[in-house]
Amino acid sequence: MNQTEESKLSKPHAVCIPFPAQGHINPMLKLAKLLHIRGFHITFVNTDFNHRRLLKSRGLNSLVSLPSFRFESIPDGLPPSNEDATQDVPSLCEACKKSCLAPFRDLVTTLNHNSNFPSISCIVSDAAMSFTQQVSEELGVPNVGFWTASGCSLWAFTQYPKLVEQGYAPLKDESYLDTIIDWIPGMEGIRLKHLPSFIRATVDEPSYIIIKYIVEEIMDKIPKFSALILNTFDMLESDVLQQIATKFPVVNYTIGPLHRFVLNNTTQDEDLKSIGSNLWKEETHCLEWLDTKKPNSVVYVNFGSVTVMSNEQLIEFAWGLANTKMDFLWIVRSDLVMGDSAILPHEFLAETKERGLLVGWCPQEQVLNHPSIGGFLTHSGWNSTFESISYGVPMLCWPFFADQQTNSWFNCNRWGIGMEIDSNVKREVIEELVRELMVGEKGKEMKENALKWKKLAEKSYKFFRWIILHEF
Ligand code: UDP
Repeated sequence: MNQTEESKLSKPHAVCIPFPAQGHINPMLKLAKLLHIRGFHITFVNTDFNHRRLLKSRGLNSLVSLPSFRFESIPDGLPPSNEDATQDVPSLCEACKKSCLAPFRDLVTTLNHNSNFPSISCIVSDAAMSFTQQVSEELGVPNVGFWTASGCSLWAFTQYPKLVEQGYAPLKDESYLDTIIDWIPGMEGIRLKHLPSFIRATVDEPSYIIIKYIVEEIMDKIPKFSALILNTFDMLESDVLQQIATKFPVVNYTIGPLHRFVLNNTTQDEDLKSIGSNLWKEETHCLEWLDTKKPNSVVYVNFGSVTVMSNEQLIEFAWGLANTKMDFLWIVRSDLVMGDSAILPHEFLAETKERGLLVGWCPQEQVLNHPSIGGFLTHSGWNSTFESISYGVPMLCWPFFADQQTNSWFNCNRWGIGMEIDSNVKREVIEELVRELMVGEKGKEMKENALKWKKLAEKSYKFFRWIILHEF
């Protein structure tokens, strides 16, 4: 063996495996890049379905260009599909639980025997992919769990057994939703409706499969990980992070904001930078359009990768935005409208032609980091929320499901950077709240708070960057 081969084989090798959804793949890829910067060889494992979508949206080169960073894939156990749409989350949970262990085990065995990568030194597993614990045990390597959502949602999910005990879950009827749940430390004053939506699922609803999965496959298994990484930063969620540390004494690390890390040229490695994880093709011309706009003048509207709405709701959002007479960038994903494609009225398109841009998918972090963006109308997914915090952009929150209700509550009640829109969306309310966000007194206050959080995020990022680049 020559010297180069020897030094290659002595390097650590992490196998990174995200839960197969956009909001999980993105932070896991960033973590994988960080580990790569620190000298790790990386094998990044997607499902076949997402691997095909990445090849289509990003092009083959972006997945295979680095000798020490490679992509592999395993079947997800769902029927084959050529669609470019988000998969059904309850079906994904069931499939991951039943079908992913065997192909993952086969893959790591093959990788350990037939490759010029070093043998596997650790698994970095999405906390939602806990079946990997069996494989790491068999290999005798550490398995680090990564909770990609907010700390507050993790802490809320741990309360599920007590909510069941007290008769709040599964939900008996809607009148319970306004009840203040006053015994959760770190979340004083929160109402049942602002705990993660799955908590209220009744046994015959598809979401019940998800909450069972979260309790049995995630919460019960977190203590078995060698360590737990959280996608947040200490100053943002200090109260709940203290509680989490007590509940899960396994070593906890907060590593946010990951996105700033990767965007801020920490690495000069263009190949590494070019590896992306968007499952939809990014329409980058929106950045040039933003360049033509004044600072803080554009409303950015994006509901992430999973949220769906009715065409009626879409139309309420449309007229609400149009009636503000403000500039807006609105991402209308191809599968945003339930069971159909989005149909926007001609009158709306004609009226907003000069000041509104509609695209199917955008490079969100670059958009949020653009000086022309003044506010973000969001579904409050954790990545979107955290990215918005990191770039100092205040939010209007229209939470759809999962942790989004809790993220929105923290935005509005703890961090002072959000206002919530009722799920029953009305154009007059959208118009009023968008105006308030962009030019109102409350909007000004929220912007100031957002800039304070941005500074703290920056501080956390700089500290963490220093550790990554100097320590170990
Ligand atoms: N995203 C993007 N472009 C889009 C929409 C979303 O790059 O047009 C990214 C966004 O930056 C975030 C992720 O997709 O990292 C969405 O994750 P989030 O947790 O906000 O929501 P989810 O899609 O899981 O509901």
